[in-house]
Amino acid sequence: MAKIIDGKAISKDIREEIKNEVAERVANGLCRPGLAVIIVGEAPASQVYVRNKKKGCEEVGFYSEVYELPAETTQGELNALVDKLNADDKIHGILCQLPLPKHLDENEVILRIDPKKDVDAFHPYNVGKIMIGDYDFLPCTPAGVMALLERSGIEVSGKECVVVGRSNIVGKPQAMLLLHANGTVTVCHSRTRDLAAVCRRADILVAAIGKADFFGADMVKEGAVVIDVGMNRRPDGKLTGDVNFAEVEPKASYITPVPGGVGPMTITMLLKNTLTAAKNRE
Ligand code: NDP
Repeated sequence: MAKIIDGKAISKDIREEIKNEVAERVANGLCRPGLAVIIVGEAPASQVYVRNKKKGCEEVGFYSEVYELPAETTQGELNALVDKLNADDKIHGILCQLPLPKHLDENEVILRIDPKKDVDAFHPYNVGKIMIGDYDFLPCTPAGVMALLERSGIEVSGKECVVVGRSNIVGKPQAMLLLHANGTVTVCHSRTRDLAAVCRRADILVAAIGKADFFGADMVKEGAVVIDVGMNRRPDGKLTGDVNFAEVEPKASYITPVPGGVGPMTITMLLKNTLTAAKNRE
């Protein structure tokens, strides 16, 4: 039977630490970290994320602003808002909720956000910093995975790590962070030959492809650590991961559930990045 990595509990501990640090900063006359969240249009999933981000900010004592812009917002209007927030001293982190409506250019927005306020770590400047291992911010989901491993006492150094998925927001930075932690890293994707055999090599398997219950017991080595980043909706509306939990759990040494594993860590890491951004301004 695997140990369940409780992302909710670990996330709560980290938020408590952030909250205490904010209270101490404010008591010492230092600035309160501030996060601005921009959402364009009305994608329901994005609205839930934005609400949770606002709630997260309140929980740890941050200042926050939420900009809900109509779907027909122009690139010029969005750019002007980003410029205003870049210049605003109360705001240390800016996050533009993706995806944007089709007529808007996501890359233009990512490039426009001041890298020092880029708490999603999507700006090429920050991506490059991550690559060389000298970074201020880490992308939230992969950073959340690393925090789960660390706080569960799981050593990465020397381990065979297999990351399945190579997106810019999860798979690629995840591989880089495991490499920085001295793992021996393999990155798999849709063209990987004999994926099951590669996955069975893993001491630490990170599943991030967005396909419900894809990873079965035949893809996991006995005693492996299994991290499920996937968030998929079943037809009945329930959230499920990329890993077939019922099959894999008896074989793994540690496993993250969905929900309650990686998911709660993402916003927590966003809060951590915002605190870092505020500290870096002093
Ligand atoms: P993307 O769709 O951007 O990337 C999916 C990756 O999986 C691609 O690299 C793709 O390969 C690979 N892939 C797809 N099918 C297969 C397959 N059959 N075999 C091997 N590789 C495959 O997804 P994201 O990285 O954005 O997200 C991945 C999952 O993580 C999603 O479920 C998403 O909802 C979840 N997620 C969860 C977060 C959280 O907070 N917990 C945050 C962000 C994402 P190729 O490149 O060859 O096409």
